[in-house]
Amino acid sequence: AEYNSNGKSHEFKAPEIKFTKLFINGVFVDSLSGKTFETIDPRNGEVIARVSEGGKEDVDLAVKAARQAFDHGKWPRMSGYGRGRIMMKFADLIEQHKEELAALDSIDAGKLFTAGVHNDIPHSLNILRYYAGAADKIHGETLKLSGEYQGYTLKEPIGVVGHIIPWNFPTTLFFLKVSPALAAGCTMIVKPAEQTPLSALFFAHLAKEAGIPDGVLNVVNGFGNTAGAAISSHMDVDAVSFTGSTEVGRLIMEAAAKSNLKSVSLELGGKSPLIIFDDADVDMAVALASLAIFYNKGEICVAGSRVFVQEGIYDEFVKKAAESAKKWVVGDPLDPQVQQGPQVDKQQFEKVLSYIAHGTREGATLLTGGKPCCDKGYYIEPTIFTDVKEDMLIAEDEIFGPVMCLMKFKTIEEAIEKANATRYGLAAGIVTKDLNVANRVSRSVRAGSIWINCYFAFDPDAPFGGYKLSGFGRDSGLNGLDKYLQVKSVVTPLYNSPW
Ligand code: ADP
Repeated sequence: AEYNSNGKSHEFKAPEIKFTKLFINGVFVDSLSGKTFETIDPRNGEVIARVSEGGKEDVDLAVKAARQAFDHGKWPRMSGYGRGRIMMKFADLIEQHKEELAALDSIDAGKLFTAGVHNDIPHSLNILRYYAGAADKIHGETLKLSGEYQGYTLKEPIGVVGHIIPWNFPTTLFFLKVSPALAAGCTMIVKPAEQTPLSALFFAHLAKEAGIPDGVLNVVNGFGNTAGAAISSHMDVDAVSFTGSTEVGRLIMEAAAKSNLKSVSLELGGKSPLIIFDDADVDMAVALASLAIFYNKGEICVAGSRVFVQEGIYDEFVKKAAESAKKWVVGDPLDPQVQQGPQVDKQQFEKVLSYIAHGTREGATLLTGGKPCCDKGYYIEPTIFTDVKEDMLIAEDEIFGPVMCLMKFKTIEEAIEKANATRYGLAAGIVTKDLNVANRVSRSVRAGSIWINCYFAFDPDAPFGGYKLSGFGRDSGLNGLDKYLQVKSVVTPLYNSPW
């Protein structure tokens, strides 16, 4: 590849688009309606490719293939070890194409190419290999029971699973959902976001090459209210695993309730606090806070969007955070020098700018940034607001853009109270050298992931998910397998049958 790993030059070109159709039952097919939709390059607003647009009837076909593969195919019936070997091969194939895959997400989602090569893809491979290793270690318990009976539990794959995923991490979220479901022995339909349909099709192609049987992993691109809704309301889908907005999470749960009561897990929005105490190293804290909100242009559900700084270091922090934001390099995500690419599409770009305008109207002080930048494309300057009050819209809503809201606090009690004053509960960061403070805050903040003196410290073995309006159910870790498994109790008389 032309990618220069010394990070000095950026000769890397946009990749060729090889796959644009739906992937159903092991083959690439047009949608039944013949419809296609455009996927847009957020660097310039130009069309990258036209992609087959799946509708209800295509979802029906994919579910039928997945049902057949589940009820009669070998994937759920083969040994966990066998599934794990194929998943390992799948991982190796992805690794061989990692630059091409990272570049696909760069042009489709505006994500940094270097982040794809060094973070998203290696992390996705870790997840896939972690669950490949877990596939032959799925077991139940023996039950002593009382009196005349003994028993055991069996963990069985839940069946046909629908994965509905968003556009901000098209690769990582694909593997966060697909890997444990494959390990469990499920069959599945993936519906990528309409903004980022490309990389999932490449993964489907590689899955087939690795030996995942036809019908086990289907990819149906299309829109949320058609293809997505067809999955969540389908009578023959046993579980749906969703990552996206709280608003759509509610619709999915409603559709599940109204159809077949399929099991639901939801990983939704966030407004995560990052709490910085007086004893912190200010330079380190500024670096962490900048990364926590500007990484992936703030399009990340765990973004550290509310930054609470203790009064003793507040002024110094504000000054240094502004300097850091001004130096933050915004530009073409294929360029290895760049730290922030464009927002995913025009709609998100306009939404973030309207929140920024609202913040100013509400009386927050725009410390730095706040404007679109670069001549074309959906780029926004790294933005910091100070004098933010907890009841302002910019402090309450998930903006999903590079907008830091800075707030001052005096005591640990106040920090905990403010951190918890949110509808969400996905993640929180704490910066302090005091172990007692870190322990106390960790246990008091109602959020699914707590990062002490670090941020975005994801690991395949660490469960991830939300409290409150951030949803329920866990991805990642051994807990991440649970939603793809049923638990069956088998009971037998211990000595003589009473009948
Ligand atoms: P965002 O706000 O981050 O774009 P969304 O929650 O709108 O996230 O979208 C996440 C995923 O949910 C996408 O794949 C989208 O197509 C899908 N989706 C949107 N609306 C629905 C719906 N009514 N039913 C099922 N899926 C939907």
